[in-house]
Amino acid sequence: MKIADVLGVVLFVEPLRTIYAQDDRKEGGREVPVREIVMADQSYKGKETLIISVYNDLATGTCEELISMVESFSVIGLTALKISHHTGFSLSTTMSTLMNLHPGGEKAEQLLKWSFENVCHLKSLREAVERAKVSVKKAILRSISDFKAMKIKKMIRLYLGCDTCRTKTYEDIGTKCKCSKSSCTARTSTSVARMIFQFDLVDITGSWNVMLFFDNASKVLGIESEKLYRMEYEVTSKLA
Ligand SMILES: [Zn+2]
Repeated sequence: MKIADVLGVVLFVEPLRTIYAQDDRKEGGREVPVREIVMADQSYKGKETLIISVYNDLATGTCEELISMVESFSVIGLTALKISHHTGFSLSTTMSTLMNLHPGGEKAEQLLKWSFENVCHLKSLREAVERAKVSVKKAILRSISDFKAMKIKKMIRLYLGCDTCRTKTYEDIGTKCKCSKSSCTARTSTSVARMIFQFDLVDITGSWNVMLFFDNASKVLGIESEKLYRMEYEVTSKLA
């Protein structure tokens, strides 16, 4: 495991999140508090910012103090960070990481001096980080695994509908019939499975009710409406 110590100017502290780590001893995994902090340093040439994933007690405890230090571009130090190259370069805290909110020494003093001289630059960097974070928050459903990891109330509604206008039909799946909606453009409509997926996304900032229709619901759930419909109703009818 590659380890690094870093000093940097705090630009951004993310609100606390919970992720679910796999744990064989506990169903559904283990809850792990985490948040990202973004730091700047005169030496991070080209990239300019460094993102560090902070876990467990450091995320719930020390990071709370850190929030009040963002405005003043304070210098902090972190020891024993794990370096990973899985998804580009990343740093995360380990069991041995210490977070020093008032580091001393020559390097820390130099960095503090640099931060005073570059306040405008740091402000624009921070704004860029905040903008990026907001756009990530909007695109919450990046992957199925992200989605499954969320604490949500969810509901799937399945029905049979016209393949053209989506109006409810009363014929068996695959049956050709005349659509009941007078404005439907189909001369003959086919009865197909339709799915609506409604759920609440919940995080510490609040909850958000989301409704996904048809193909979008299929994409997120990773299953075709027809397949799910057949699983739901054909198995039941066989058992009955
Ligand atoms: Zn129709």
